[in-house]
Amino acid sequence: MQRSTKIVATLGPSSSDVATLEGLIAAGVNMFRLNFSHGTAQDHLDRAAIVRECAKKAGCAVAIMVDLQGPKIRVGKFEKNKIELKNGDQFILDASCTLGNQERVGLDYKELPNDVAPGAILLLDDGRLVFEVKEVVGSEIHVVVKVGGVLSNNKGINRQGGGLTAPALTAKDMEDIKTAAKLHADYVAVSFPKSGADMYMARTLLRAAGSRALLIAKIERTEAVADLEEILDASDGIMVARGDLAVEVGDAAVPALQKRMIKLARKKHKLSITATQMMESMITSPVPTRAEVSDVANAVLDGTDAVMLSAETASGKYPIETVEAMARVCVEAEKTFESKIDEELLMQGDLTRIDQTIAMSALFASSRLNVKAIAALTQSGSSALWMSRYIRGVPIYALTPEAETYNRLSLFRDVYPVMISHENTDRESLLVRAEVEMLRRGIVQQGDLVAFTFGDVVGLGGGTNCLKIIKIGERKGQR
Ligand code: PGA
Ligand code: MN
Repeated sequence: MQRSTKIVATLGPSSSDVATLEGLIAAGVNMFRLNFSHGTAQDHLDRAAIVRECAKKAGCAVAIMVDLQGPKIRVGKFEKNKIELKNGDQFILDASCTLGNQERVGLDYKELPNDVAPGAILLLDDGRLVFEVKEVVGSEIHVVVKVGGVLSNNKGINRQGGGLTAPALTAKDMEDIKTAAKLHADYVAVSFPKSGADMYMARTLLRAAGSRALLIAKIERTEAVADLEEILDASDGIMVARGDLAVEVGDAAVPALQKRMIKLARKKHKLSITATQMMESMITSPVPTRAEVSDVANAVLDGTDAVMLSAETASGKYPIETVEAMARVCVEAEKTFESKIDEELLMQGDLTRIDQTIAMSALFASSRLNVKAIAALTQSGSSALWMSRYIRGVPIYALTPEAETYNRLSLFRDVYPVMISHENTDRESLLVRAEVEMLRRGIVQQGDLVAFTFGDVVGLGGGTNCLKIIKIGERKGQR
């Protein structure tokens, strides 16, 4: 079952043992997300080691993404772990309160009283509770409860319309960046960035820590939507982080934003992950709802690189079944005409680089000639990235000797990473080896047309300058 859209699964208590991880990989997970909002650095290091072990055993490319906690603004803890608030109740969010009760609760972000004014709407627990600010007195925010409910320890707070000044990288994130480097994260996701500058800052810290991870900006703030172009320019990809985003911009605005973000990401040669509540009901049910099936399929049609699971695999009852269901829905959606990206897109834009021009030529040729597969011999993976921005329905096999590239490529839509050693090889024998390897794996059959892209010099990053279209099995006759 070939699937071009990739699956990201969040790890947690439901998915930390070897058997479940093996099951998840077999079911089709392409990247695991380590959620740094939970657990210790050591927990994550241990989990990453097990993931690498399982991926190696399964012989699959599997990436690891560290998801930094970011400045999620939360209430503190309660004496009795939770309280119940009714509509019309008065309540106080108090930056100097240590243990909450029916009257007030603490805040982990002490600046919040400076960031809000009377009339502001605060949404708690992903919008389940709604408060309106009446007045701010020193460290106290006095609110009236508009929509009540149960409020328990450490629930998140968002302000409708955004505008909170918390910096994107907290002291904890800066420590966690070191852990990300230590566990050789393939991707690092930055939570709540507001601007391109936040992403530059994250990249600088990451490189200083010795990590070469690709950077994903989680778009979950109103400001981030406004600054989307700059954020994309400063990142390798984005996550449509619908959980927090829906609270900030209003849930009804999210579907259109999702489409716009995915489209813009592709146009700028960046990756996109669509996240949150995709298969939410499968936390407790073995089958998805019709709406969830449609949501996953629509993300595929929007052109997302990957769809993500959160609590479904981290703490749900059916982690493996959820991935299987998601995979099934993706495969079916990919078969439809609507999943093919507009032909016109391919003809747009200027080409400034030789490697990119070769990549585009391969894509163009494969859409005219009946090419079965594209095989990109790649060091950095950039040729595969460019080709994968225009979904053509032709699989792109990225043959690389680099373990880092191999794992990263597992997130790119339409790209299938293959590990192949480039050692002691001249170009011709490398091409023959690639052909043999593709035949061995059943990727191609005798007589199939394959478009190879590669560099004159083997092993040079960014050196792709050749396109060669061959009929499998007829090489000798041609020479
Ligand atoms: P989270 O991010 O799961 O870390 O909150 C994703 C989202 O907000 O959708
Ligand atoms: Mn979030």
